Amino acid sequence: MAAEIISGKEIAAQVRAELKDRVEELTAEGLVPGLATVIVGEDPASQLYVGMKGRAAKEAGIYSRQVTLPADASEDELLGTIEGLNADPRIHGILVQLPVPDHIEEGKVLLAIDPEKDVDGFHPINVGRLSTGDLNVLVPCTPKGCIEMLLRTGNDPAGKHAVVVGRSNIVGRPMASLLLRKAPGGNATVTIAHSRTADLGAVTRQADVLVVAIGRPDTITADMVKPGAAVIDVGINRIDDASRERGYRVVGDVDFEGVKEVAGAITPVPGGVGPMTIAMLLSNTVQAAENQRAASS
Ligand code: NDP
Repeated sequence: MAAEIISGKEIAAQVRAELKDRVEELTAEGLVPGLATVIVGEDPASQLYVGMKGRAAKEAGIYSRQVTLPADASEDELLGTIEGLNADPRIHGILVQLPVPDHIEEGKVLLAIDPEKDVDGFHPINVGRLSTGDLNVLVPCTPKGCIEMLLRTGNDPAGKHAVVVGRSNIVGRPMASLLLRKAPGGNATVTIAHSRTADLGAVTRQADVLVVAIGRPDTITADMVKPGAAVIDVGINRIDDASRERGYRVVGDVDFEGVKEVAGAITPVPGGVGPMTIAMLLSNTVQAAENQRAASS
């Protein structure tokens, strides 16, 4: 039987509608959640992402501010901008669009953001808090979105074997930490695989929940998936396609057509994890505003 297609687009719309209600409540109490996005340089893809994030924030009723620094802005200038936003009471969440130019040290940037305003969840304090099982920490948006999709489609990972393919700091590792937490969306038995895993298929075939974040098209094929598994495809890859006006199309890391015949549920690309990531950024901003209000009362 063909898999249920998990629509990240629909779930993200649901999440955003719920957030709008929470934002309205906060606003009525005099607290408008605020998100600042900081971008260094004019990279078109980064500009596009930051623009989308800003628009989504405004739609949810969140105050949004975009700070654009020139490509040759110094590290000190960027750190000074972050310091200003850390101290600004209208701003509850700060996101610095990565990557930053080579002359700026990314680690210093992540450390400069107030952990309470770190809506990307990349500050080492938040990374540590997540891996020690803290439940009210700001967590990276993409893995948070994957968990939300699993829960909202009746694919609770609790008690299941979850396999995460990929061990990056932005997806694979935090994903594994979330699946391991003693909390809704967690309590799974977790295996992490990566490029040095011997016989990847033997590992992925054990997965009741399979989360794939590799960055290579068609890496996971039908023979590598356990019948009935829930498959979350995080990958975003451009492949040439002369039939499309723009000359390419976007695919995930999973061979969607093959795997959907075996899996119980599967996310498409596009329209799966991608829309959830932005919804979770808004969710983190609202969470940060609520936390900061609780801390100051
Ligand atoms: P990274 O390149 O940082 O990490 C990729 C991981 O995949 C690494 O751990 C690597 O292993 C592993 N890997 C590479 N090749 C193989 C292989 N053949 N078999 C098994 N494991 C392999 O990527 P990211 O985590 O940043 O992103 C992964 C994908 O997700 C990309 O396509 C990216 O565009 C997408 N993405 C999508 C988002 C969304 O919103 N939908 C958000 C963020 C990312 P090793 O560590 O050994 O090198």
